[in-house]
Amino acid sequence: MLFIGNYFFIFYFGAIFGSFFTALGTRIPIKEGFTFSRSHCVHCNHALGPHDLFPIFSYLFRFGKCAYCNRKIDGMYVVVESLSGLTACLLYYFYSNKPLYLLVYAGIFSILAIISITDYLYLLVPDRFQILLVSAALFLHGNLPFSDWKASAISFAAIFSLLLFTLFVVPDGLGGGDIKLLSILAFAFGLRQSLSILLVSSLSACLFLAAGYFFNKKNIGQRLPFVPFIAIAVLLVHFLQLFYFG
Ligand SMILES: [Zn+2]
Repeated sequence: MLFIGNYFFIFYFGAIFGSFFTALGTRIPIKEGFTFSRSHCVHCNHALGPHDLFPIFSYLFRFGKCAYCNRKIDGMYVVVESLSGLTACLLYYFYSNKPLYLLVYAGIFSILAIISITDYLYLLVPDRFQILLVSAALFLHGNLPFSDWKASAISFAAIFSLLLFTLFVVPDGLGGGDIKLLSILAFAFGLRQSLSILLVSSLSACLFLAAGYFFNKKNIGQRLPFVPFIAIAVLLVHFLQLFYFG
């Protein structure tokens, strides 16, 4: 029982961080004051009360609707909160005895959560978050006992040139932000994992587009935010890799 209680606590702790990431991702690109203004509904602008600020539960208890204007709240919030909770549990499970790794990976996954939101909402990946990712990757390599700088540099160069080539072939395919992000991830996670990340994110985005086309008859040429797919692929590949290979 204690074991389940611990994980519930960690899950909810992660979900609170997830709610913080959505607030950051929503406000930073439009330069809305973060610390001084309270969270509010995007439709009616009503400031949210303390009972609206419980991640996941507030959403479920109100059936995904704003308590003041009754309009639908974007499901993205609860997805990010749940994924952050789950990520916190997985980080704790795999890295609780390696606090340095836990901190660096928590940092990398937090940045990925924030830029997933900015890409989803504004089709924008702020450069300062890419720079933070580079710093996290450098720190990771600087502190890994078996770090292979040469392999990481080759991995970066391989993925960057591959994506640059696809940009020349399909100019409206990937965005510049996606290419930078995937190359930085190649440097952080190495060639094998980054090829898997590329495969999983492209496949899931294709499936998503196909499903959207099939069910809603949406225009398949519409610009799709790709960073959320990359972020989910990173989590999936990283933790599956840990699970199978340690
Ligand atoms: Zn409202």
